[in-house]
Parts: sequence; structure tokens; C-alpha cells
Amino acid sequence: RQNATGAISITGVSKSFGRHKALDNVSLTLEPGSVTVILGPSGSGKSTLLRTINHLERVDEGFIRIDGEYIGYQLRGDKLYELKEKAILRQRINVGYVFQNFNLFPHMTVLNNLIEAPIAHRQLSKSAAIARAGELLDIVGLRHKAQAWPRHLSGGQQQRVAIARALMLNPRVMLFDEPTSALDPELVSEVLDVIKKLARSGTTLVIVTHEIGFAREVADSVVFMDEGKIVEQGSSSQVLNNARHERTRRFLARVL
Ligand code: ADP
Ligand code: MG
Repeated sequence: RQNATGAISITGVSKSFGRHKALDNVSLTLEPGSVTVILGPSGSGKSTLLRTINHLERVDEGFIRIDGEYIGYQLRGDKLYELKEKAILRQRINVGYVFQNFNLFPHMTVLNNLIEAPIAHRQLSKSAAIARAGELLDIVGLRHKAQAWPRHLSGGQQQRVAIARALMLNPRVMLFDEPTSALDPELVSEVLDVIKKLARSGTTLVIVTHEIGFAREVADSVVFMDEGKIVEQGSSSQVLNNARHERTRRFLARVL
């Protein structure tokens, strides 16, 4: 992981919805090429944190940088200015996002799900997009489904297509928000296997999941969140086996 990119630095980020503080002064540094698992009860701010990394959610305070570049903002003099929508879209190329519910375009084949956006936004030529899609479908084991419709795929296959789609522009960072929570139990491992493969590729991964065994196996770092705050961060063995905080231990006892 020596030449990996995708260093994420989150500094003093707060975000409220009305009077509710979804993120409360969150600071976090993630190494390039590292794999971080975020744990925490429902409503603790995990999804909001992922959404701020992509500037899908504007923060009230603090800032986020990827490889030193401010996300959503530009430093001029000693002041931060919010970027225009177009510049933000350009930044998003560096970040792939995978949701719980796959969100494939139902009226498009698997191949077209992958190539549509990069061609429409002129990020790849048609031939380059088709070539890249082929490589990625190989990686997720679905080359033979290129012409299939999403509704004819299992949930696990659909999620593997969604992961391939998120990788089309070779992002530095991949964010996963409960990528296996909507799957039948027997389909969970095929999706986790694809994420494990990615973990070895040098892409920085941030994964919200309750799959503790998976976290033990692949996470360099585990973060436990509660009530919009980071309660605890450390190596997977530190946090999963020797949690310092009572709240972390109680949560782990519940999900294990
Ligand atoms: P998690 O992913 O850990 O379950 P979320 O980040 O989704 O938690 O939510 C954190 C808190 O912020 C919750 O109380 C949730 O209801 C609230 N919240 C999240 N998004 C919004 C929104 N768009 N509008 C209002 N409240 C929100
Ligand atoms: Mg969530």
C-alpha cells in the first residue's frame, strides 16, 4: 500500500438536523489504502458521516480533506469558499459510494448500468467504458451477466454490480453503507468476498457494517460511534477484543 492514495482527514465536523446533532465534533484520520469499519447503533450518525465525506451532506462546522484537497471547499488566502456544483461533481469522481439497496437502474442492462454515467458525463469514451466494465465484471464474477436485467439477478449479484459501477472511474476512496444489510443471509458472503478483494487493491475503504467477523478479518481500523460522536477508534483487535469504553463493549455484546 506504499503508493496508495485516498488519505482522508476529517477535522472537527459537526452537522445538525433541526435541533438534533447528528455529528458532534468528529475528527478522524484514515491512512491511504486503509480499510476502516464503522460500527454504531442506529441513529448514531454513521450514514451522515459517510455522506459528508462525499459532500452529499454539507457540514455546519469543520472540514474534510482527501489527499489534502478540501471536499466541497477551496482555500483562498486563509478562508474556505464553497465550490460550485460542477467542481463538486468533479471531486466526486474520487469517491465511490455503495448503498444498502443497490439502486441499479432497472430499465438498463448490467453493462449499461456501468457505462451509462461515465459516457454521459464524458469521463470515458464508449470503448474505454466497455473495456473497463468488462474488467470490473470479471472482478465481481459477473461477466456472463453483462446483458442481463437487474430484476433477473439475486440481491447479492445486484450489489456486486453496484460495486463494479462505483469502481468505473477508479476512485481513491470507496464508501460502503451497510452493503449487506438488505441481503438474504446466504448472499452476504459473496458481497463481502468482493469487498475483501478490493481491500487488497490499495483503494481506501470505509465500511459501515455490523458484520463483526468481516471487520476482524479485513479492518485496519475500527471506529465505534454513538450519538454523533466517535467513542473509540483503534486496530480491529483493540476495539473488538479490548474495547476501552463501556458503551463500545455493550454494543459489541449486542451484535456478536
Ligand atoms: P445511522 O446511519 O448511524 O443510523 P444517521 O447518520 O442516518 O445514523 O442519522 C443520525 C441522526 O440524524 C438520526 O437521528 C437521524 O434521524 C438524523 N438524520 C439523518 N439524516 C437526516 C435528515 N436528512 N433529516 C433529518 N434528520 C436526519
Ligand atoms: Mg445508516
